[in-house]
Parts: sequence; C-alpha cells; structure tokens
Amino acid sequence: MSSRPHGPARPFGTVVFDCDSTLSSIEGIEDLAVGREDEVRALTDRAMNGELPLEDVYGARLELIRPTAADVERIGARYIETALPHAAQLVSALHHLGKRVAIVSGGLLPPVRALAAHLGIPAAEVDAVGVFFDSAGAYAGFDTDSPLARAGGKLEVVRALAEGEDARPPLVLIGDGATDLEAAPLCERFIAFGGVVRREQVFAAADVTCAVPDLAALVPLILTSEEQAHLAASIDHAALVRAAETLTA
Ligand SMILES: [Mg+2]
Repeated sequence: MSSRPHGPARPFGTVVFDCDSTLSSIEGIEDLAVGREDEVRALTDRAMNGELPLEDVYGARLELIRPTAADVERIGARYIETALPHAAQLVSALHHLGKRVAIVSGGLLPPVRALAAHLGIPAAEVDAVGVFFDSAGAYAGFDTDSPLARAGGKLEVVRALAEGEDARPPLVLIGDGATDLEAAPLCERFIAFGGVVRREQVFAAADVTCAVPDLAALVPLILTSEEQAHLAASIDHAALVRAAETLTA
C-alpha cells in the first residue's frame, strides 16, 4: 500500500497540502463539468501533452463551464463531503504540535477556503485561484494574475511560504499531481499522495509515497516519533495515532 514509514529526523515547521485528490477525493473543476466532461478532459490532456500551456487551458476550461457563484459554492460543499478520512483530525493534531498548516491549490479559492474552514485551517493559509462573478452571480472570469493558474506556479507559491516572514522551516508538501512535484525541490520532504489517484510519474520521482486512502496514514511520514508519542498521550489526539498504527501495520 505505502512505502515503509520512515519519520522525519527533525520536526517539520510547515505542512502544505494540495486540495484536489489529496485533502478531498474529487477534482473540483471536473466535478463542475457535468455534460461537458469530454471537452474539459481533452483540454487537460492537451496541457499534459505540452500542446497548450496550463495558463491557456486553465481559462479555456473555465470558459467552457462558466461556473456560477452557486456552482462554485456547491464545489465547496462537495469538497467537504468528500474530505478524506481523518483530514480534520490530522489538521487539529498538527496545530496542537505548533505547526503551520497551509493549502496551496490550483483549484478555485472560494471552495478551497470552504474546505479549509471545515478543517480548521485559517483563510490566510489558503492559496488558490480567485474567481469573479457579476451582480447576478454569472461567471465573469478568474484571477489571471494567480501563479497557480500557470505551470510552475505552485513552485512560486511554496517558495514564498518557505521564505516569507511567517516561514517555519523545514517544510513538507503532500500532493498527488505534477504541479506538486514541481515544488518538491523546495521542500525537505515531498510526499506523493496516491490515496485517491496514483500518478505513476509522480510516485516514481518521490522519495516518500503514500497510497492509503486515509490521511491518518501520513502521521508516521510527517511526525517524529517524539511528536507521535506526544499525540498518543493526548486525550484529543490519541485516536489519530491509533488509526495511523492500524493503517500502517
Ligand atoms: Mg491534486
């Protein structure tokens, strides 16, 4: 299922999660493309094949879907419904240990913030792509200045997190996609997460992998044995450590 757990030698200060297919089991943008899945997927494939830059595909996909404010709100509810097991408990435990927890996502900002709120992650620790609506709630474009809507953008945002005023190194990043892998050189540890979708090229390039569809399985990969012992002694967090032991036994 996963690689043999090997914990970090020293505690991570910052834990960065991807959203789609990592904290949640859906891809938010594709979830909106009901009836137009083939067109949206074709655009995604053209980006992956290098025929179109991500920045062109990003806008073209949204232009096809033209999500309303209500559609975007619905993605937030779907992210929450499809959050992976132990997502909220893991975030709570990481905060208990004094870590900074952030989400860096190429998804749309309002629904990623809704999931973050559900998981107890402050809005200020969420970076995703802004979206605009007119006064009637119709789609009016996305934040074309967001680095997260173009190739290499996650790398830029994670660099700012690692080097900014609030930086708490070392940093661990957990994600499933090629854009997550792009940011790996900035991280002390990159964990390829395949609990939802296992992307072979990302797995092959990662030192640490996890293919368990439960975020408790990350506990031994992101916490030192001392930190795990500290959680195990806490009435609020002991269940998470027990779940992790069961999953990785
Ligand atoms: Mg993802």
